Amino acid sequence: MTATTTKTGVPFDVQGEMSDTDRRDAAMNGFVREFGAIAAAHMEACVRCGMCANACHFYVATGEPAYTPINKLRPFEQAYHRNAGPFAPIYRLFGIVPRVSLEELQEWERLLFDACTLCGRCTLACPMGIDIAELIKEARHGMYKAGLIPDRLQLMDRTTKAWGSPATPAEDFADIINEAGEEFGVMMNVDKDKADYLVTVAPAELSEHTKALADVAKIMNRMGLDWTYHSEGFEASNIGYLNGDTDLQEKMTRRIIDTAVKIGAKTLVLPECGHAYGAARWEAARWYGGTVPVRIIHMTEFLQEAVNSGKIKLKSMDVTASFHDPCQLVRRGGVTKAPREVLGKLGVTVKELENHGSLGWCCGGGGGVVSNVRADPIRFKAFELKKKEVEAAGADRFITACGQCRITLTQGAKKFSWDKKVESLLELVADNLVD
Ligand code: SF4
Ligand code: SF4
Repeated sequence: MTATTTKTGVPFDVQGEMSDTDRRDAAMNGFVREFGAIAAAHMEACVRCGMCANACHFYVATGEPAYTPINKLRPFEQAYHRNAGPFAPIYRLFGIVPRVSLEELQEWERLLFDACTLCGRCTLACPMGIDIAELIKEARHGMYKAGLIPDRLQLMDRTTKAWGSPATPAEDFADIINEAGEEFGVMMNVDKDKADYLVTVAPAELSEHTKALADVAKIMNRMGLDWTYHSEGFEASNIGYLNGDTDLQEKMTRRIIDTAVKIGAKTLVLPECGHAYGAARWEAARWYGGTVPVRIIHMTEFLQEAVNSGKIKLKSMDVTASFHDPCQLVRRGGVTKAPREVLGKLGVTVKELENHGSLGWCCGGGGGVVSNVRADPIRFKAFELKKKEVEAAGADRFITACGQCRITLTQGAKKFSWDKKVESLLELVADNLVD
């Protein structure tokens, strides 16, 4: 792995030994593989209206023209017109669309990985219905093949391949679960041969947020459910989905779903992680012939079911709170009502942010950005948009339902000496169970 800069001073990382030509061709072949009918229709549809620009937190926060969503697709679009579009042979013959150069790809790495959280706000703004976030995700596949992704993400990719998780070796997982049980005084289930519910985790819960491991157990035990964590399939965050490593993405998705099937689970519960929801809930069907063999729900949907089941009762917190809508859960996943319903049962009066629900601003750290230190300066600028809205709403508390959003927002608060704690919906439910 090597970090360097282009001739114009743009930083990029590079992985693997390849000639310049092979690296460029690997990226191009990767892009061409993505140009299916839907991607092609999207490529042809852009009318250059610029409406997506003001939807992007990185552009709005910095005013930097390079960060407009459509600019982030330029080389991908160029590759499409030159290699796959209806006029590709003519464009090539007359040199109308030039070949994408390696230098352009190197400069592009920053735009695709540092300056995009795959939040989909631009997609919502586009009058032509172009799913820009999806195209950026597809463009990442070619960049992964070419060894042009941030080193931090590549490191997590390698760790996940070796360990089954970027946070811990699989053989340590059961110990972590049992230690969390001891620390928080909760009975844990791990590696049961049979269970109705398979509960999965994200790296944040194996490091900063271990209380969440015990909180799920506390709620499941109280409801009398038959559930387990499992060392063979526990990691739901899916770094392959973020890095453009589709082989790893498939492997990680299959690992949790196949484990659920093996133990006879009817429901696979995803952790408080937005991208886990995108990877498992929406993309898994690709590898199961269109029908996933198990019900997959996000932790917030599980909490909604729990509070509505009558099997748990909650104390009223009697406070006001603003809710940060995780992009992959709410905008991309449509889970807007569930967190608000749970907050209602907790006796929380929601003071909505100016932009909320499907229009909420991203935390600035999704899509792997929070793990990529090179992106810190623009991530902190984007954070200021959220901070301003939270302050304007004037609520007592600030709550979210994604561990990565929570880490990103907590880091932002620390950076700006902002005394707002970012709380987890799951933890609040567990803390307010009536005995
Ligand atoms: S997906 Fe989000 S971060 Fe990426 S370009 Fe669109 S608005 Fe910006
Ligand atoms: S909003 Fe849609 S049509 Fe307009 S520039 Fe952006 S991608 Fe193109």
